[in-house]
Parts: sequence; structure tokens; C-alpha cells
Amino acid sequence: MDYFKWFEDLIECPHCEHKHRPTGSHEEDDGEWECASCEKPFDVLVEYTPTYSVSKPKNWAGDDV
Ligand SMILES: [Zn+2]
Repeated sequence: MDYFKWFEDLIECPHCEHKHRPTGSHEEDDGEWECASCEKPFDVLVEYTPTYSVSKPKNWAGDDV
């Protein structure tokens, strides 16, 4: 995750649009929050976009092309 993506991932209050920084922990971020600005509750559902990382197996002995 790069620097700019991090700031796009701030949690925005649906009542007043106040931005909250997620903890980065799924268990802590998912669920009910209370807005730090308007003090109204809102629900957060943590969603992930799958990403795929590939590498050659550690025991790979074949030729690199
Ligand atoms: Zn709010």
C-alpha cells in the first residue's frame, strides 16, 4: 500500500464527513464507530480488494528465460 492510497482509505463519517484514521486491524476497524466530531454512531464494513503476489518456488532449479 503506497502513501497516497493510505490517505484515500480514511473512514469518513456518513453524518458530517469527518475523516477518521483506521487502526489497520480488521477486528478493530470493522463494526460500530462513534464519530469524533459529531459523536453520532456509524457502521464500518471493512472491505478488501484482493491482490496477488507471485514468486518462483524456493526449490526452483530450472532455467530462467
Ligand atoms: Zn460525524
